[in-house]
Order: sequence, then C-alpha cells, then structure tokens
Amino acid sequence: MKQGIPEQIKLFKFASRSLIFSQTYKVKNFPRIKNLANNQDSTVDVNLRFNLEYGKIPCIKGDIKLDLMLNCQRCLGEVKLYLEPKFQLAFVKNEQQGEEIDSNFEVIINADDEFSTIEFITDEVLISIPMMPMHDYECASYQDTQPIIKQKYKNPFAILEQLKNN
Ligand SMILES: [Zn+2]
Repeated sequence: MKQGIPEQIKLFKFASRSLIFSQTYKVKNFPRIKNLANNQDSTVDVNLRFNLEYGKIPCIKGDIKLDLMLNCQRCLGEVKLYLEPKFQLAFVKNEQQGEEIDSNFEVIINADDEFSTIEFITDEVLISIPMMPMHDYECASYQDTQPIIKQKYKNPFAILEQLKNN
C-alpha cells in the first residue's frame, strides 16, 4: 500500500517492513534546490521502495521526476531541464558487507539509520543536474561561450558523495 513519505527516513524500520512511499512535492520544499531554480511551484514526484536484501541489508530503490528552470551557463537565459534520477542504494555496515551486495546497487557505508527525507531527495536531484546546464542549441556567439559561473554547481552534495564508495 502506498503512503506519503515521512519527514524522517528510518532506514531499518522501513526496510524491514518493505514499505513503499509516494509523494508529490514542490521545488520550493527543497531549500538547496530552490536556491538554484526559477520554478518554485513546479512539482517533484518521488517514489521510494524500501526492502532488506539478504534479510539484513536495508536498501532504497527510488525515482524522482521534476522539471527545473535553471540559468544557462552560456547565455544566462533560462533553460528548462527535465530530470528523472533513479537510484538503488544499499546501506551496509562495512566494506565486506558491501561486496556481498548485487553490483546494481550503489553502496553506502555506515550511513545513519535515520535521516531527513528532504535532504536525501535533494542529494539525489543535485547529482542528476549537469555540471554546466546549457541550452541544447547555440544560444550565444563563439566569443561568449566561456563558462560564466564555474563553481556554482560544484559538489553541493559532497557529504553524501563521501559516504558512497563508487
Ligand atoms: Zn543559453
């Protein structure tokens, strides 16, 4: 049975009950994404499925669908990106346990058992944004094509990345 996503993810509890959640958010519900995007009221559809692999390793399979209006890094005009990040995460206690798991999973070592749903979804969305969002046509002349903002999209998700070993 599908239900709305709680504010806090309780990894082992949700996984041991094989819970499935779906919820529609708005871009403005995600503070770190809101700062980048120009479409605050656009919807963000999220599906999360929890399960225990081998009866012991909590896993999250999920997908997110959203449009983001960002500033093109070539002409600074608006560019609309359709993002559909999908993920399969296995939360293991140590590297040895990580080797047991199917290679389709992205392995995360030693995460907290409880964490913020909004921050978790934010990290998955930010990973899916191209480093240099740009129009897919020649929107500026050659001499204007130097990237304007280089640092803005660099690793806003560094914390989660450090937990992922691949
Ligand atoms: Zn452009």
